[in-house]
Amino acid sequence: MEIESLSIHAGERPDPAYGAVGTPIYQTSTFAFYDVGKNRGYDYSRTANPTRKILEETIAKLEGGKAGFCFATGMAAETTVLHLLKAGDHVISGDDVYGGTFRLLENVMRPLGVETTFMRLNDRRKIEAAIRPNTRMVWLETPSNPLLNITDVEMVADVAKKHRLLTAIDNTFASPVFLRPIDYGIDLVVHSTTKYLNGHCDVVGGAVVTTTDELTERVQFLLNAMGTCASPFDCWLVLRGIETLSLRVKQHAQNAAAVADFLGSHPAVSRVYYPGLKSHPGHDIARRQMKGFGGMVAFELKGGTEAAYAFLKKVKLFLLAESLGGAASLVAHPATMTHASMPREHREKAGITEGLVRLSVGLENINDIIADLRQALEPG
Ligand SMILES: *Cc1c(COP(=O)(O)O)cnc(C)c1O
Repeated sequence: MEIESLSIHAGERPDPAYGAVGTPIYQTSTFAFYDVGKNRGYDYSRTANPTRKILEETIAKLEGGKAGFCFATGMAAETTVLHLLKAGDHVISGDDVYGGTFRLLENVMRPLGVETTFMRLNDRRKIEAAIRPNTRMVWLETPSNPLLNITDVEMVADVAKKHRLLTAIDNTFASPVFLRPIDYGIDLVVHSTTKYLNGHCDVVGGAVVTTTDELTERVQFLLNAMGTCASPFDCWLVLRGIETLSLRVKQHAQNAAAVADFLGSHPAVSRVYYPGLKSHPGHDIARRQMKGFGGMVAFELKGGTEAAYAFLKKVKLFLLAESLGGAASLVAHPATMTHASMPREHREKAGITEGLVRLSVGLENINDIIADLRQALEPG
């Protein structure tokens, strides 16, 4: 089945108990054994839950992986994956990853003895030069947050395989509709389901997809041992959102492309970041490895920080908020919001300036979206 159909039919559906087409919320902590040592496949909801299971199987199928696991948040998913490592291990990570990922690697994992080198993952030789005897994992995110840099997934997976390193990718921005990293040889896919997979700004959640029996067993063990799993109700919301994933992300991308074109020709704008633009440095790789360019656009104003603040005050339809991937258009100021946890000097090295504005282009009518941007960019 294709991704649009899998979004609706993957997993054990309809529900085996009564044939419910809408997946039931199994809001239970525990499951009765019908005899000593005998149950119906579930014993306790931390370990596994039928509602969660259907979502896990659905996300695994969408990504083309072996098994899926759902977590309380995207950060819980990342925390669990990073616990595949142990003290003394070394990670190579993209340098413009999500601010929370940076914070987790630097302020949680480093004190536990797992050190990370942050670098631009665009040069095979530079990646190889950064590999140490204790390097275990390469962490990447593409398109990256907030600058939408593109990483060649196949190249990174290939370098990692040659050196027997695990690869983990944060596929939150692209979603499996536009990018399927496992097809390029990636070992682990991570999602903040809070964003496009759920798509309605009403849940926080995370997911991990594995590609081998060994990784599946390890992640299942860690999820259960660490208790990082998602609740049945949150899984039900994400399942509901995923049914329309493909329709939504295609419309997000269409609207974002129109916004990028509009901003690119606006006199108050100095620079637009959107992988769909021919001028974007990662455009050719994005066109090769992705089926669409996504719904996120970033830009800088000629007037710098001051102009950015004025713009943020004037937008009406775009809500000033963290997060992305919902039906409603959102605008964020990465330096003070999503990336405030990244030290200023690291931010500047990665190109995240004080004047940078990030848009999550929503599903409103494109004329209303452009009209709001136009009025907010007017001088005075
Ligand atoms: C939001 C986000 C996360 C963190 O997910 P939460 O659900 O907020 O914990 C990780 N990576 C990316 C790219 C994100 O946008």
